[in-house]
Amino acid sequence: MKRIAIVGGGISGLSAAFYLEKARAAGAELEYTLFESGQRLGGSMYSDRVEGCLVEAGPDSFLTEKPWALTLCKELGIADQLIGSNDAQRKTYIVVNGRLVVMPDGLMFMVPTRIVPTALSPLFSWSTKIRMARELLHPPRPMQDDETVAELVERHFGAQVVDRLADPLLSGVYGGDAAKLSARAVLPRFVEMEEKYGSLSRAMLAAHKKMAQSRGKQPARPLFTSLKDGMQQLVDAILDRLDPESIRMRSHVRRVYPEDGGWRVSLEMNGDERYDSVVLATPANVAGTLLDGVDRGLARNLLDITYSSSVTVTLGYYLDQLKGLPPGFGFLVPRSEGTRMLACTFVHNKFPHRAPEGKGILRCFLGGARDEAVLALTDDEMLETVHRELRDIVKLDARPMFARVYRWRGAMAQYESGHIARVQRIERRVSEIPGLALAGNAYHGIGVPDCIRSGMEAANAVAPVPVESLSTQQR
Ligand SMILES: Cc1cc2nc3c(=O)[nH]c(=O)nc-3n(C[C@H](O)[C@H](O)[C@H](O)COP(=O)(O)OP(=O)(O)OC[C@H]3O[C@@H](n4cnc5c(N)ncnc54)[C@H](O)[C@@H]3O)c2cc1C
Repeated sequence: MKRIAIVGGGISGLSAAFYLEKARAAGAELEYTLFESGQRLGGSMYSDRVEGCLVEAGPDSFLTEKPWALTLCKELGIADQLIGSNDAQRKTYIVVNGRLVVMPDGLMFMVPTRIVPTALSPLFSWSTKIRMARELLHPPRPMQDDETVAELVERHFGAQVVDRLADPLLSGVYGGDAAKLSARAVLPRFVEMEEKYGSLSRAMLAAHKKMAQSRGKQPARPLFTSLKDGMQQLVDAILDRLDPESIRMRSHVRRVYPEDGGWRVSLEMNGDERYDSVVLATPANVAGTLLDGVDRGLARNLLDITYSSSVTVTLGYYLDQLKGLPPGFGFLVPRSEGTRMLACTFVHNKFPHRAPEGKGILRCFLGGARDEAVLALTDDEMLETVHRELRDIVKLDARPMFARVYRWRGAMAQYESGHIARVQRIERRVSEIPGLALAGNAYHGIGVPDCIRSGMEAANAVAPVPVESLSTQQR
């Protein structure tokens, strides 16, 4: 019987456990133990109910186009619980000089694809608009070095698009800094598009046309997918499938050592245990510490992956109080505006089932790579900051009926320049160490679907996973 230890009970470790459980149920001779240092499973995935409202403390959804989360939900039998974002109401605003300016139609991520709405938009100056038009003529260009996102976007569309779109979008998604994140690691499709088409606008239009053709008469899929009762439903559905005896809460792993063809797992409280393989599904810096005595070079590379922190502040209101808000999913705030708030989602507009009749929810994001200091604020200071900034930006002065603050210290891996080469070094070395696999948001994608895929691949690396799960694996 093969014994496998999984360290870390976030969605990456839980996915690894689920796929190992699946292999076991299909007859594989294995058993697994999942060690989680905290008192709760799911890591940054956690949903709460307050005054009838669904409050997401961490992720609120996942990108529909990445298949691994949808596949997992189907395998768990919760596909009927999936809900799509209300894309008919999708409007996002950018704060410019303290006022909301709507992102023009046809902007795909940060690439303009429609001339008239872009030309009429007050979001960009005339010189930026001229630059956007000229971008259509960019010739194909192989990427020579590991440019940052800011460098790539500035080359195509100019500095204003970095400030007003690239940077706020990436601080929203990655808690990151466009001037540091690697374009190749964070926006690989942009790099491929530039190599093939030159112009990102032309490439986006071509991709859009191809997608519309392959979809035929089928309606477009929603951009984001979630679950009726929140992302916690995914955690709970996985837990329903796992053997409770295999889960060890409040079990902090201190070190792992290869020993006699297997692994010794050293626990803070309960001494050492023997396993044949280990899956480290912790943040990379924790994995680096756990492996320090095994391979210094590997540990160094893992420790070199940096993390940023995030704070979400959720405020519940009566809809009457929110009458002054414009329609749409919410707004992003460029750094040049000088606020602490990075973004705010109008949750009740983005998804159905989030707030009961007559109530609405705002979720504000703070922190990110440039504002680690925000973690030191007390809840009251945090709420005061958010109230002040909401009053300035959307003239919302009303006090909410409830407020919740969640701090996620070091939760967001930063794919900085050199990330791809670093991950290749890590993976090469890991493949040489028998019985070791890594999973988590530090390697091939920070979003929930990529974390699930990482758990599935790690499970497969230490034990065979049933074939149909792996068939959805295309990067
Ligand atoms: C505020 C926020 C909003 C987000 N929004 C979205 C979104 O909308 N959509 C999306 O796709 N993604 C989103 N993400 C990203 C995504 O949620 C995360 O990347 C993902 O949940 C990370 O999962 P994980 O299992 O890799 O890591 P984690 O969730 O960090 O879990 C790691 C676990 O390992 C445990 N651990 C650590 N060290 C040890 C040890 N030594 N021994 C035992 N256990 C240990 C920790 O306690 C933790 O439970 C968001 C993230 C945050 C923070």
